[in-house]
Amino acid sequence: MERLENDPYAGARLRMVAEQIESRGITDARILAAMRTIPRHLFVADENRDQAYEDYPLSIGHEQTISQPYIVAYMTAAIGPRSSDRVLEIGTGSGYQTAVLAGLVREVLSVEIRPGLAERAQRVLGALGCGNVRVRLGDGNLGWPEEAPFDAILVTAAPESVPTALLKQLAPGGRMVIPLGAAGWDAQRLVRLTRMADDVRTEVLLPVRFVPLTTEEPRLH
Ligand code: SAH
Repeated sequence: MERLENDPYAGARLRMVAEQIESRGITDARILAAMRTIPRHLFVADENRDQAYEDYPLSIGHEQTISQPYIVAYMTAAIGPRSSDRVLEIGTGSGYQTAVLAGLVREVLSVEIRPGLAERAQRVLGALGCGNVRVRLGDGNLGWPEEAPFDAILVTAAPESVPTALLKQLAPGGRMVIPLGAAGWDAQRLVRLTRMADDVRTEVLLPVRFVPLTTEEPRLH
């Protein structure tokens, strides 16, 4: 990894955390520290590096986006990450959310359906020395049954309803944060599901806009 003191984006990254994340009420010191450290500019395309710390999502090719920094922080806080947790992520994309989680929990298992994105994310995460991450190519609707149960599941693409396989793979006390609803303006909500002793508690958190969770093989790139 580039040494932080030689990192031309170090100042932009500190400003991003102060102005977009802390100021909007995210107070978990571990999350703020992780986001002050992880070089987000390495997860975006080279031509977008100068925009990597701006307050909006960016294209990562394949018609997909890296989420706005605040949304990454918000979703991370919403799963209540503990250092002993094993976390399943659906939709690796750029790998940035994966890296943030990897700095906070014991292990991150991430499923991505597009080979080009999975390969690039694996390469960047490897170069940064994220040793507690595994990325697998596959359909996230199915989760990662061989590795279940998970203390938390974070889904970064929106299905219309909660995939039953994911709910099954949530440990007792486990939290899943997932955008739900059809694509389009104002149609999706970020929801948190918590597995209680006898049932599942559902909380609607905030309106969001995510790319759809694909239900069939996308064209290979
Ligand atoms: N957390 C990522 C967000 C990427 S966008 C980031 O910040 O970079 C959502 C991702 O979900 C895309 O990479 C898309 O290819 C992936 N995706 C969509 N449908 C999927 C599915 N059924 N299984 C696994 N990944 C899927």
